[in-house]
Amino acid sequence: MQERLHDAAGHGIAAHAPPPDATALLRRVFGYDAFRGQQQAIVEHVAGGHDALVLMPTGGGKSLCYQIPSLLRAGTGLVVSPLIALMQDQVEALRQLGVRAAYLNSTLDAAEARQVERDLLDGSLDLLYVAPERLLTPRFLDLLERSPIALFAIDEAHCVSQWGHDFRPEYRELAVLHERWPQVPRIALTATADPPTRREIAERLALEDAQCFLSSFDRPNIRYSVAHKDNPRRQLLDFLAGHAGESGIVYCLSRRKVEETAQFLAGRGISALPYHAGLPAQVRAQNQRRFLREDGIVMCATIAFGMGIDKPDVRFVAHMDLPKSIEGYYQETGRAGRDGEPAEAWMGYGLGDVVLLRQMIEQGEAGEERKRLERRKLDQLLGYCESAQCRRQALLAAFGETYAPATDGAGSICGNCDNCLQPVRTWDATEAARKALSCVYRTGQRFGAAHLIDVLRGADTEKVRQFRHHELSTYGIGGELDAGAWRSVFRQLVVAGLLEVDAEGHGGLRLGAAARPVLRGEQAVHLREEPARTPGRGGGERRSESTLHVDAGDRPLFDALRAWRGQLAREQNVPAYVIFHDRTLRDIAQLRPASLSELTRVGGIGGSKLGRYGEAVLEIVREQG
Ligand code: ADP
Ligand code: ZN
Repeated sequence: MQERLHDAAGHGIAAHAPPPDATALLRRVFGYDAFRGQQQAIVEHVAGGHDALVLMPTGGGKSLCYQIPSLLRAGTGLVVSPLIALMQDQVEALRQLGVRAAYLNSTLDAAEARQVERDLLDGSLDLLYVAPERLLTPRFLDLLERSPIALFAIDEAHCVSQWGHDFRPEYRELAVLHERWPQVPRIALTATADPPTRREIAERLALEDAQCFLSSFDRPNIRYSVAHKDNPRRQLLDFLAGHAGESGIVYCLSRRKVEETAQFLAGRGISALPYHAGLPAQVRAQNQRRFLREDGIVMCATIAFGMGIDKPDVRFVAHMDLPKSIEGYYQETGRAGRDGEPAEAWMGYGLGDVVLLRQMIEQGEAGEERKRLERRKLDQLLGYCESAQCRRQALLAAFGETYAPATDGAGSICGNCDNCLQPVRTWDATEAARKALSCVYRTGQRFGAAHLIDVLRGADTEKVRQFRHHELSTYGIGGELDAGAWRSVFRQLVVAGLLEVDAEGHGGLRLGAAARPVLRGEQAVHLREEPARTPGRGGGERRSESTLHVDAGDRPLFDALRAWRGQLAREQNVPAYVIFHDRTLRDIAQLRPASLSELTRVGGIGGSKLGRYGEAVLEIVREQG
């Protein structure tokens, strides 16, 4: 390792340097100044030969926690990783750093695989990524017996959990590593935050005695906002207008909606692609590849698109439909802003979503116990949507974490969510709620919100006439609110349990248990006012907060560097971020280094990259003046 670094860096490293400590390695190989959060403690623990369970949010920097100990210890670090696409990109990124990394999976032909195996036996690999099913073959386990092993890293460790949708049966067999190599340290890593999954990981992987490193699950660079849907496509376009040219994901509930949304966006000149489990495997792989490698692709997807999207510069995640749970929401939005730069999570939701998701639960195949769990999870998510509280605080509370930063005294807690940036106002909706509830009652507790609103507002529709609802006492008593405001009332009454969605699944509303005291006039109702929070409002100002900030004066150089990087990435057939992150390019454009030693001051440029690209970068800086 040291030798190679010396070669690749081509300067500065003494021939007989002492064995590198972790921080020196971090600087020299990865080009970073300091460890983040608990990285250093974890690295030292594992490098010292101990087991670790690492719970860190996406973007927290989990990879370094096993990569550096692998370099510090003798032998090869074995990384179990569930996804082939992920392995390839990680290995590519490591090779760019001058690290001897390889992977073993079904994409290699027999000769290539044999070469990797020989390298493993020789001890000439720093890191080897391998799929669990390959690792568990008797042949490979045998090979491991004869190879020097630095550690076992089990990435995406939540795949052992059969309750999650990333369940991989082979992960359950990984306890065998501990049985056969008790002296080799193991490190399991996941970004899954909920406590039951954590317990399952420790148990299934025989890591009960491992030290657990739990980080805060806060993602301070992600701005959360939730909007009521009144014109979803318009709202999406407005949102995307604030993210022109950036990569992001638009989640939809159904395959059909994925296709329609992608088509709609493409028709508006946005580079949008669809991704869902119903597409041919080849199309899926192709679209995923384009998303990872090209700049500015908007992926319209179901949740089938998710794990393994370790693209660092996903700038936004938009939800056109509600996810199934708050955990799902956290995971999905967590794919934005892995690089720590500002990113945005926007979600639109409406009464229709509530009705649909309730129906899906009631009509599903699941047993009663499971349904109860799903109902509770949906209610928790709806509570989050309607909350007037700081989103970050509410989100973290769902994972048992207390978020309590110093407040600025003005009511703002995180300062980076819709509710903090624009505090929610509530209004006394007691009168409106009573009108709505009695309208539900008088019409026989079987109609959906659209018709109920027609009755309240005194509309003359065929349905009204058919059921003679114009003869009811509640007909036309709700003219003071427009249809949009009424929808908001009905939605909030459902979430609050004053109204229930019928289990038969026609979207009919009936009175909930909590309705009685309100109808009797014994209890007041306060609802949140729908703020005019059309995404994209505020234009340029807002944009600069949610995207990588590049000073106007640095723009031409930044763009030139990006174009150069794009060209290189195509030539080498790797994703652009594997060469340099946007942030690194931005910092170069700002610093305008005139020499290699000045260039090393930029984060993300270690010895190998300096050797490979340093001169080319300096030349671009010189050309741009
Ligand atoms: P995770 O696997 O936890 O989602 P990664 O290991 O992919 O996170 O790291 C996220 C990003 O943070 C990467 O772009 C990585 O290069 C960067 N990073 C990690 N550790 C550091 C550090 N100590 N200093 C600077 N950048 C870091
Ligand atoms: Zn907040």
